[in-house]
Formats: sequence, C-alpha cells, structure tokens
Amino acid sequence: MNMTEKDIEGIVRRVVEGMNGGSPASSQGELSVNGKRYLGVFGCMNAAIDAAYDAQKQLYNMTVEQKEAVISEIRRLILEEAPIIAKLGVEETGMGRVEHKLLKHRYVALKTPGTEDLNTEAITGDKGLTLLELAPFGVIGAMTPSTNPSETVLCNSIGMIAAGNTVVFNPHPGALKTSLYAVDLVNRAAQTVGAPQNLAVSVAKPTMETSDLMIKSPKIKMLCCTGGPGVVKAMLSSGKKAIGAGAGNPPVVVDDTADIAKAGRDIIDGCAFDNNLPCIAEKEVFALANITDELIHHMCQNGAYLINHDQMKQLEKVVLTEKDNGKVDINKKWVGRDARKILAEIGVQVGEDIRCVICEAEFNDHFVQIELMMPILAIVRVPDIDTAFDMAVKAEHGLRHTAHMHSKNIDHLTRFARAVETTIFVKNAPSYAGIGVGGEGHCTFTIAGPTGEGLTSAKTFTRRRRCVMVDSFRII
Ligand code: NAD
Repeated sequence: MNMTEKDIEGIVRRVVEGMNGGSPASSQGELSVNGKRYLGVFGCMNAAIDAAYDAQKQLYNMTVEQKEAVISEIRRLILEEAPIIAKLGVEETGMGRVEHKLLKHRYVALKTPGTEDLNTEAITGDKGLTLLELAPFGVIGAMTPSTNPSETVLCNSIGMIAAGNTVVFNPHPGALKTSLYAVDLVNRAAQTVGAPQNLAVSVAKPTMETSDLMIKSPKIKMLCCTGGPGVVKAMLSSGKKAIGAGAGNPPVVVDDTADIAKAGRDIIDGCAFDNNLPCIAEKEVFALANITDELIHHMCQNGAYLINHDQMKQLEKVVLTEKDNGKVDINKKWVGRDARKILAEIGVQVGEDIRCVICEAEFNDHFVQIELMMPILAIVRVPDIDTAFDMAVKAEHGLRHTAHMHSKNIDHLTRFARAVETTIFVKNAPSYAGIGVGGEGHCTFTIAGPTGEGLTSAKTFTRRRRCVMVDSFRII
C-alpha cells in the first residue's frame, strides 16, 4: 500500500474524531468507528478475557511456523502503518514527536525477538537426557503506558504470542485510540495468515475496575505491567506471577576524559528523543566542573537552550504541581511536549531547532530529583568523580532502571556501572542505544527492573518445564 500524506491524515482524523462516537464494542470483539472495524476490542473485560482464553487454546496447538507467520505479518503491518500510528500517537496524547515515533515503531518491527528467542536446553549424562523447554503461561494481563502506547502493545504482543500466550491489554486511557489501533493491527495480521482471532484483545473503555477484573481473573496466569510506581505496586500485590517495568530517573555522568563534543551531542540526542518520553532517556547530568562549560557549549550547538536560575524557578512553577499531601509532582500536561512550547510558557520564544531546555542546578533541585519525562535537562557541576557517582546513584533513587556515562576512563566506567546497579548502562552513546537503537541487542519497551527480567523478550513470558528420560536417548 502506497499511502500519501493525505491518506495518513484522513485515517488519523477518522480515528481521533471517531472512536468516542463509535458504536459500542460487541461481545464478539469488534468496535466500529466511521465504518472501520477494530478487531479484538470488547465491551467488557470478562468477554475480552474469555476470548483471549479460547484463542490461547488454539494458539497452543499451532506450530512454530504458524506462529512465526503471524509475527511476520505483524512486523510487515507495523512497517507499513508506522506513519499512521506515529501520527495518531502524537495527535491523541499531545506527547512526543512523529519522526521519533516512526523510528520507534520501525525498531519494534525489526528488532523485537520472535520464536527464535526460545531456546531449549538439554542436559545429558550417565542417567540419560533431560530437556528444559520454555512453555507459555496462558493468558497474560498487560497494562501499558501513555508514553509509548502502541510501541508497548506491539512489542508485548510479538513476544507474548511468540511464546504461545495470548494477551489482554488494559491500556492507559490517555492513549486509548492509539493502543486499540495496535490491538486491531495484531488481529488483522492474524486474520491475513488464517490464524485465530483475539491473540491480543482489549476493552473499549479501560478503567481501574477493568484493570482490577483483569488482575483477579483466574483465567489470567501472568501479569505484565509497564508504567509508573502505582500500577507496578498494584500488579506486584496481586499474588500472581508479575513482571514489573517501572519508573526510572536515569542520571548521566560526564568526566574530563570524555569526548566532550560527542557527549554534548549524544546527551541532547537521547534526552530530546520523542521529547524525553522513553523511561531510559537522560533525565539529569552530573558533569565534572572542569568540563561543564564546554559540555554546555556543545549541548547548545546541538539544539539545547540554556536558561538561567530565575528562569528555572519560573519553569518549575509551570511543569510541576504540588499534590494534596504537599509532595511535588509533575504537571502531566507538560509531559512529552516540545521544548519550544515549554519555553514559550516562561516568555522565551525560540525556533524549531531548539529541542531541549537545559539549566544548571543543585543536587536537591526538583529538576534533578523528579522524573520529568519532558525535554528539560538539569546539569549539576561536581568537583570530583566520587561526588558525581554518589549524587548520580542517589538521584536514581534505587530504581535500578537506567544510567549513562561519557568517559574514556575504564576504571570510572566500571566503578559507576557497579555502583549504580541499573538494568541498562549506556557508555558513550545516546540513551536509546540501550534498547537497540544504534546499539547492539534487541529492542523492547518493557524494561523490567523491579522484578529483574531486564529487557523483556519472548522468553520472559514463559514457564520453564523439565522432561526427564532416564537411561535413554543419549547418543554418546
Ligand atoms: P501510569 O503509571 O500513569 O499508567 C500505566 C497504566 O497503569 C495505565 O494503564 C494506568 O491507567 C494504570 N494505572 C495507574 N495506576 C494504577 C493503579 N494503582 N492500579 C491499576 N492501574 C493503574 O504510566 P504513564 O504515565 O503512562 O507512564 C509513565 C511511567 O511509566 C513513567 O514512570 C515511566 O518511567 C514508566 N515506564 C516504564 C517503562 C519500563 O519499561 N520500565 C516503560 C514505559 C514507561
């Protein structure tokens, strides 16, 4: 299909305008929007779970080749429809950048492992042969964020289906249309290759109640949650096997052995990617005092705009709010917004080339301590490397998510990696290298730090089963 910009606009407009007025999802799992059917979308959570449960029985009996056929078609459709999904994501949520969402979907399509991720182990010895196989859990209940909505639904679907599971999504209501578009895509792929429907399903109106039904349903055998601390806690208290991919606050350390020009560019590239929505993105910098001016200079050469202390305080009032309990939190309205629009709120007008706001800050400043998910980056000048490591570890808050360092000193790189204990540690590159974009390794948008699975892939969604044959089946 060769889509023009006009075709893409038309589809995005129909989805954004249409879904609220769409005819209700039927118990068969179909939502109609302006004549377009959304497959796998149900009116109630129990119907969605039942459908995914029945589909999993069929999936269990499918060959690896048949599962791969579904996955290949999902990959093909993602590549073909990435322009629609990227645009839809930005229009619906108001967050992120179309060109970066396009890239994220390409990487989901090309670098999310399928069935090849599932390796059987064999143990042989005097007593015969033992096999360890990776078996499906059954139906997985998944919560997905507003920040990478379709990326997470599609990446989870590929891995979960490859491992023989079906999946029920309770997507973030703020990114509902984009998430349901992705669920529909998975079902269309299955339909094209003659596979069963409802390998991935969702509900037309996800709420806390539907999430609760999903968590408690005896038909759901595993939970996978990608989101902030609230939802991770809810899932981990369920008593079921749960994979928790939670919040981060990735620090960056830059020492005086680094290629400072490259560090400045890489940090801004990573921090500004999709307007800082990825949980792995650079959130605050600790730079040795003797290279901080040079680093800031190179950041400004690469699309950063430096604000002064008074402007930082003004900006805090815009992008942060005080909760009822007195705690300071982000103002969600500004998550993933363009730097240009954020700056305009404090009376600074800049051009399209400005993609990140930077400021010098103290360790205790909110912009250092709070996960903003906005293209705003605080830089703390530190006198020595020990202070840098100490502050960076504290700013990561023990989340063990992601950290970055720019240095050519292998002792420094090793010491920080050991001290910070994060799931992802990126050296001398933008943060997205950590999820396979410009770095080696597979892609995922579910990084399970709290529960330890790390960068999830098909094998994460499996149970290990052992089969023992005594005294036979050895060949030596
Ligand atoms: P969020 O936590 O607001 O929402 C995630 C999902 O959980 C949504 O579906 C939401 O409706 C639901 N939810 C929220 N609280 C709940 C509760 N107590 N019980 C049941 N359901 C609940 O997430 P968001 O704002 O869309 O995403 C941003 C957060 O997610 C950031 O903290 C980011 O770091 C994190 N994140 C982590 C990863 C990762 O792989 N580790 C990936 C993406 C996002």
